[in-house]
Amino acid sequence: MLSAISNIANDIHSILLPRGCFGCTANLGKGERSLCTVCRDQLPFTEYNFIDENPIDRIFYGKIPVKKASSLFFYHENGRIQRIIHHWKYNKQEQIGSFLAALYTPILEADPGFEKPDLIVSVPLHKNKIRKRGYNQLDLVGKSFSENFHCRYENKVLVKTQNTRTQTRKNRWWRWKGVQDLYQLNGSDSVRDKRILLIDDVITTGATLEACAQTLFAGGAKEVSIATIAVVPSFG
Ligand SMILES: [Zn+2]
Repeated sequence: MLSAISNIANDIHSILLPRGCFGCTANLGKGERSLCTVCRDQLPFTEYNFIDENPIDRIFYGKIPVKKASSLFFYHENGRIQRIIHHWKYNKQEQIGSFLAALYTPILEADPGFEKPDLIVSVPLHKNKIRKRGYNQLDLVGKSFSENFHCRYENKVLVKTQNTRTQTRKNRWWRWKGVQDLYQLNGSDSVRDKRILLIDDVITTGATLEACAQTLFAGGAKEVSIATIAVVPSFG
């Protein structure tokens, strides 16, 4: 009886709020949440956590001594991950962050090069972007990781000093310099001697993460690892 009532409640919920898969446009069946079964079976995992010197690690070689860098998924134009990330960032589907972190956590834990961090830090978004979006999409990833790894998550350790759009008119060197100077530490001792996991959504060239890691090391961080949700394969 109770399950019948719960099924009816679910059906009413579906009628009021038609639920679609975030990875495709299929309607979700009973028992499916966020993704349909087909999308769940075909998620493009990179499995980079189980490859020494994986392509994400190589992005940072010779630039910055990142302990371990990885990405959960491959990001393809018009692919499932692009659609999921679009819903997450632009369609007010903040809860997708928890879903992604739940997929990533056991993979990080199984990674032989992964050590539980003392602190999780997100790549900062400019406050105008957060205001427009209504939330920082990395917050639920960071919070979920912090609960699993029993450490703090901070979204204000790094501060973005200006909007990147102003950089586009400058030449290459000034753009590079601009990225280097774009991040500052909020509080001088916030990262000293800490093992840090730096998180971001999509990694393309790695320039942003490099600049953030640089800032963390300049603040005395003991170790920095990087975990991103998706990587654009041309750089991976
Ligand atoms: Zn689907």
